This record gives sequence, C-alpha cells and structure tokens, in this order.
Amino acid sequence: MSRVAILGGGLAGLAAAWEIHRASGAEAIVLEASDAFGGKLRSERPPGFVLEEGPDSFLVRKPAAVEICRELGIEDELVGVNETGQGSAIFSGGRLHPIPPGLMMGLPTEVWPFLRSGLLSGGAKLRALGDLFLGRDAAAGDRPLGPFLARRVGREVVSRIVEPLLSGIYAGDVQAMSAEATFPQLLELERREGSLLRGARRLRRRTPRPSGERNPMFMTLRTGLGRLPDAICRALPAEWLQPNREVRSVRAVDGGYRIALSDGAELSADAVVVALPATAAAMSLQELAPRTALALFSIPYASLAVTAFAYSRHEVGRPLRGSGFLVPRDAGLHITACTYVVNKWPHESEGGILLRCYMGRANESPLGRSDEEILTAAREDLRRVLSITAEPGLQRVFRWPEGMPQYTVGHLGRIAEARAGLSEHPRVRLCGAAYDGVGIPDVIRQGREAAQSVLAALKSAEGAQREATTRKD
Ligand SMILES: Cc1cc2nc3c(=O)[nH]c(=O)nc-3n(C[C@H](O)[C@H](O)[C@H](O)COP(=O)(O)OP(=O)(O)OC[C@H]3O[C@@H](n4cnc5c(N)ncnc54)[C@H](O)[C@@H]3O)c2cc1C
Repeated sequence: MSRVAILGGGLAGLAAAWEIHRASGAEAIVLEASDAFGGKLRSERPPGFVLEEGPDSFLVRKPAAVEICRELGIEDELVGVNETGQGSAIFSGGRLHPIPPGLMMGLPTEVWPFLRSGLLSGGAKLRALGDLFLGRDAAAGDRPLGPFLARRVGREVVSRIVEPLLSGIYAGDVQAMSAEATFPQLLELERREGSLLRGARRLRRRTPRPSGERNPMFMTLRTGLGRLPDAICRALPAEWLQPNREVRSVRAVDGGYRIALSDGAELSADAVVVALPATAAAMSLQELAPRTALALFSIPYASLAVTAFAYSRHEVGRPLRGSGFLVPRDAGLHITACTYVVNKWPHESEGGILLRCYMGRANESPLGRSDEEILTAAREDLRRVLSITAEPGLQRVFRWPEGMPQYTVGHLGRIAEARAGLSEHPRVRLCGAAYDGVGIPDVIRQGREAAQSVLAALKSAEGAQREATTRKD
C-alpha cells in the first residue's frame, strides 16, 4: 500500500489525512512538531466559558467546513452566530460608531445610512461618491489594495472603514496587501462596472443575505473549534497520527521520498503533502525544490496576540451592542478589534461576560511585550472604549508568533513560482494558510485538494509501473 507523509498536523494537514482515509487505498502519517494536532484551532473550556485561542468561527458561504463536519457526524454541534451578535462598530474620534448598514466589502451600497453615519467627515462622504464618476484605472495586474481603493473612494473611507474591516481578516497592511490575492472581486467590480459603489450595490442585490440562526453567515462548534481537529483525529487510524515529530527535510530517494526529522529519525513515503507554514515548508524543501523554497521564504507573516477577559455581569455597566468593534490604525489604541463573545456566541459565555481582544498587525508585533504588559494594554483600551474598570475574574493571553501569512502584492506570482518549482514532483503538494486563502474553509479545501492530487499522481505512477512490468514480461 502506498504511503503519504503529511507534514504538519494543523487543519490543512488533518483535512488531507481525512481525504486519504475516505478514499482508502493508501495510508498516511501526519508528522506534527508540537504535542497536539489542530494548529491554530485550540479551545480551552474553563467552567462557564469556551475560550478560543485562535479562530472563533468560520464563514458558511464557503462550504468546506460545514461539509467536513457533516462527514464526521458532528453537524448537530454546529452553532450559528447569535442574532444579537450581528452588526459591529468602529472606534473613531474617541467613541464607537455603528458600522452603517448596507456595507459590502467595506463599500456603502445604501446612500442614506452612509450619509447619516458619524464615522466620516462630510468631505469624505462626498469624496466617496466621486467613485461613481471616476474612470477605470488603466493599471493592469496586481496592486496594493489601499491605494487602489483610496483612488476610488478616498483615503478617509479606506482608513476608517475599509481598512479595519478588510485588513482585519489578514491582520494585514492595506498599503501592502495584494488586491488580486485578497479581494479580487473589487478589481472585477471596477473592470465590469466602472465604479465600485455601483458594482457593490448590484452585487448586494443579487446576493442572498444570510441572517438569523437558520441562515447564519458564521458558525462555530458548541464546545469550541478545537472540536473539529479532535473529531478528525478520532476518525483516523491512531497509528497515522505522530505528534512531537518535527520535520527537517525532504529528499527524493529511489523513486520515493525520505523525510528527515529533527530527532535524527528518517521515514520513507511515496508521496508528500506539505501542510506547514511557509517558512517551515521552505526549510524542509530547500534540497528537493530550491526554487519553491526561495518563493516560500519571501512570504511575510504577522505575529498576533489574542486576549480573553471574563467579567461578572453586574461589573459591565454599559450595554454591549452587536458583535464588537474594530479599531483603525490611527485611533491610538493597542488592540485592533474586540469581540463581544457574550453577544456573538452566548453559549461560550454562560459564566459571565466574555470579551476577546486582538493585538498585532503586519509589521506591528505585540509579542515583544510580556503577557502582563499585553493584558494591561488591552484592559486599558477596554477602559477607554467601554468604561470597564473592574478586575476580570478570568484573563488569558494566547500568543501567535508568525500567526498570519501576509498576502502582499505579487502573492499569486510567488505561489505560482513555488508550485512551478515542484513540477517534477507531482507527488509532492503544498497546502495551507500560506497559499490560497487563510480562512478555515479555505485550508480544509486546500488540504483535501492536495490529498486528491497526490492520490491521483500515485495512481498514475502505479499504472505506469504496471505497464512497464507487463511489457518486460
Ligand atoms: C489569532 C487568529 C485568529 C483567526 N481567526 C480566524 C477565524 O475566526 N476564522 C477563520 O476562518 N480563520 C481564522 N484564522 C485563520 C486560520 O485559523 C488559519 O489560517 C488556519 O487554521 C491555518 O491552518 P493550517 O493548517 O494552514 O496552518 P497551522 O494551523 O499553522 O498548522 C501548521 C502545523 O504545522 C506544524 N509545524 C510547523 N513546523 C513544523 C515542522 N517543521 N514539522 C512538523 N510540523 C510543523 C505546526 O505546529 C502546526 O500544527 C485565525 C488565525 C489566527 C492566528
């Protein structure tokens, strides 16, 4: 039976293993450097709370996450975002402003709520409407998202609304983020409609609006997203799962591959799925595919910190409305966003009022600070924005060094280059957050596609070998 080595036991690697298990006909080993599987998906469950260390939910519109839950038999554990946890605010000018309804990809599609919003100056609102009369940008190819949008709708709309909303997903810098790799729909709107506002309005009319618990935009799992990797691990043969096995390098040997581990051990495999963060992937492929390694080394990362604070209900005087708030770069806070877990996911906050704050962006790592400093800074911001002065009954910091790959201008070209460097190795495939999407459904889809691709390559290699043997006979 052919053997596939899967490097990295995050969600992409586990999804690849699940795909191989379902296809049957090959076996796999998942080599994970740490002592736990799931990568960024980790949940703590202190009494009365669910604390998400990394992601807290996934987008339902991309079907891969719901699909895998269905296959694993945990579909009935899915929970849709709570209705009171919809709608968010932006902190600007020293106070919270509700995000005007009708935004699509950060762009206004309804004129009146946009004009009434206190988030922008009158001049900025007029400038944004200028998009309706502006010609198409003659530039072709990739470009940074920020300047592209600023040309169309003005700098203030970008810094106050679009940047906190769109770059929040990537913890990215809009001045460097690739428009092609992150929001190609925006380039397409300009190309097709000649105006982003007109295009977004038309798109919104055509898009069914998810709302309410029956048709939610985001979902999670009742006991936390860590349940997903746990469920995959339980469904796989136990001997496939190898924790505390850090991969050093991959070499081609006798028509197959040798994987060297940091403890000096070596393992053989017929195919390899590389589901590692870009830097670790680059290091392991330096010898096998130097061109790939070079492209992967050039993918930058942002380091992040997530903090969680739980208060008893009477200690938070001010009513919390919606899902939380976002913070523009120039707002003078330490945090980049705050989620009111109590509103968004009440089942995770039964023991009181749980808030989650995020820190860190591209080129602004919070990880030089101690845990105590991170907690103090986040609590200082909660005091400024929400007037919370009480001591939290529970507080935690989760550190994510190099936690989020940055899709900067030229990203698609770098990924194409990385893949081209493996053209002689159809049984080696890359997948995960560094490549074609950072969201949970994206990495699941990539893991499964990588597994399908190496299984197909193994099959065709076996077919070719059989043919050669028959001819010899
Ligand atoms: C703070 C934070 C919040 C997020 N929020 C959301 C959200 O709400 N919704 C959403 O959809 N997405 C969110 N994301 C993004 C999403 O969680 C990740 O993109 C996704 O989980 C990455 O999966 P992965 O398998 O590609 O990588 P990882 O989870 O990074 O897995 C890679 C694995 O490889 C292992 N590894 C590293 N080096 C080696 C080596 N040499 N040998 C063997 N193993 C190695 C690591 O230990 C890790 O387990 C968030 C990410 C972060 C950091």
